[in-house]
Amino acid sequence: MRGFAMLGINKVGWIEKEKPTYGPYDAIVKPIAVSPCTSDIHTVFEGALGEREDMILGHEAVGEIVETGREVKDFKPGDKVIVPAITPDWRTLESQQGFSQHSGGMLAGWKFSNFKDGVFGNFFHVNDADMNLAHLPDDIPVESAVMLTDMVTTGFHGAELANIQLGDVVAVIGIGPVGLMAVAGAKILGASRILGVGSRKALTKAANFYGATDIVNYRNGPVEDQVMELTNGKGVDRVIIAGASPEIMKTAIKIVKPGGTVSNVNYYGEGDTIPIPRLDWGSGMAHKTIVGGLTPGGRDRMEKLIDLVRYNRVDPSKLVTHKFHGFSHVEEALMLMKDKQQDLIKPVVFVD
Ligand code: NDP
Ligand code: ZN
Repeated sequence: MRGFAMLGINKVGWIEKEKPTYGPYDAIVKPIAVSPCTSDIHTVFEGALGEREDMILGHEAVGEIVETGREVKDFKPGDKVIVPAITPDWRTLESQQGFSQHSGGMLAGWKFSNFKDGVFGNFFHVNDADMNLAHLPDDIPVESAVMLTDMVTTGFHGAELANIQLGDVVAVIGIGPVGLMAVAGAKILGASRILGVGSRKALTKAANFYGATDIVNYRNGPVEDQVMELTNGKGVDRVIIAGASPEIMKTAIKIVKPGGTVSNVNYYGEGDTIPIPRLDWGSGMAHKTIVGGLTPGGRDRMEKLIDLVRYNRVDPSKLVTHKFHGFSHVEEALMLMKDKQQDLIKPVVFVD
């Protein structure tokens, strides 16, 4: 089979590989539609996870089951499925402890395009199919379903981790597809005012669509000054970080009120440390909580997100600005995520 792979840091290309094998609880899936992620860019072009050789990229897919292990009960060949980016090992202590993202080790629930081949191949392997796959319902458009696998779940996780209370003022730093879903999640969780920080027109427009009440353009001056001015010097109750370099933590700590939360879902590809400004953090005594996490995955999470789309709580289809037909366009779509042209939010590649 063929796949589009990371050949090494800064190197990508098409490779030939053996079709994956599978165990009794697993499935082999062929992609119907896939999307590249900014995380693929961090992984390849910043070497954020370290060296990876000939690893097929991609972790956002809707697909069709080709084969199932003998113990798989709820899925069969021919079924169309939503494949979450995060596919934990559910029989682990970390999963019992509520952190399935880290089942088997830190970040080890993130397998595709990290610890094993991703979804940009003719076929890919899914561990524990019954616990990790969700049936694709007829009433959910394929492009929306692809967005659930990573963008929606991650943005919503940013909002969950932020511990948003009814009426809170929330700043979302970075309004790419992840940040946009953090905006949508903050709205669902009851934020009153939502300040979206970004600059590209397509993103600011979409941020307003998903619930941002104010836009802060970081190119127009320091974000902390603009946020403080907009909030009469008070700052915000919660900050969700979904973009920028580690330095952004300084801004987040500065603008969050004592007792507030900084929730990070950004994947920092560079730098050894993430700075916490001492005075703005109350010299360690301000009750400003910092939390960060990899998105949850698995079947139950996907089924809940499906219902949020079905009952009109969120419409992820608005994230998809570029559509391609034909598997070979995966390369072009990945490069779009690298270059981030003005009108891009997210590309989706339909395999046929
Ligand atoms: P994008 O690159 O599409 O969006 C990034 C946003 O950050 C843009 O709005 C950009 O502004 C903004 N930004 C860039 N620099 C600054 C700055 N200095 N100050 C303020 N804002 C800035 O990213 P995605 O939405 O695709 O992904 C966001 C992050 O989430 C990535 O790091 C990705 O790897 C990570 N991620 C994490 C996951 C998890 O499980 N935790 C899962 C999936 C992704 P502009 O409008 O100018 O482009
Ligand atoms: Zn991703």
